[in-house]
Amino acid sequence: MNIEAFFRFTYGMYIISTSHNEQANGYVANSVFQVTSDPPQLAVSCHKDNLSTGLIAKSRKFSVSVLQQNADSALISLFGYRSGREEDKFARTKHIKGKTGIPIVTQDTIAWFDCDLVQQVDLGTHILFIGQVMDCELMDESNKPLTYAWYREVKKAFSPKNSPTYIDPAKRVKEKGNETPDQMYQCLACSYIYDPEVGDPEGGIPPGTAFEDIPDDWVCPVCGATKDMFEVKV
Ligand code: FE
Repeated sequence: MNIEAFFRFTYGMYIISTSHNEQANGYVANSVFQVTSDPPQLAVSCHKDNLSTGLIAKSRKFSVSVLQQNADSALISLFGYRSGREEDKFARTKHIKGKTGIPIVTQDTIAWFDCDLVQQVDLGTHILFIGQVMDCELMDESNKPLTYAWYREVKKAFSPKNSPTYIDPAKRVKEKGNETPDQMYQCLACSYIYDPEVGDPEGGIPPGTAFEDIPDDWVCPVCGATKDMFEVKV
């Protein structure tokens, strides 16, 4: 079995939000798809450990925000790699309240869907939620949607552990271009790989900077982890 085959699926990048009894939460998902058009229904797979999973099951509502291609890394980091048990993700994120009463992230969003939960399927580690679209809107017609492939290629990031498409880095076949493992460092929190040839221009680190020479206050551009959370990529 060649697990690289799994990377040939195409996915988008979305923020799934919900709220129950004043507790709002959301997370980044790539496994969202339209399953029927009449009525319009969407499916999303959500890990049972995620705070949002329990909230969606109780509120029976969820929203889907389609992220734009140049979505801010800090937004993806906040919703993708941090837990709503520790902070209110909506406190510093642009959002609106949908017709169903739950929050919908509008920041770096090109389209959104507001859904009523109609069915759920227990998949073991995950629950597949199927929702009927009650409302939807286009936010930005000029921007392209962010795809998982683009995110993975440009950010060199991988799915977090609770994602249905997560693959253990230890099992991952060594990728082309990573032939200098002593020079690459990997974030233990999100698997982002720091490549000295590329640097982190957005974070102020020019190409050609060795990991050791990065200032101590630099943080992972994907998940915000500090420098001590990195280890040599082997
Ligand atoms: Fe990270």
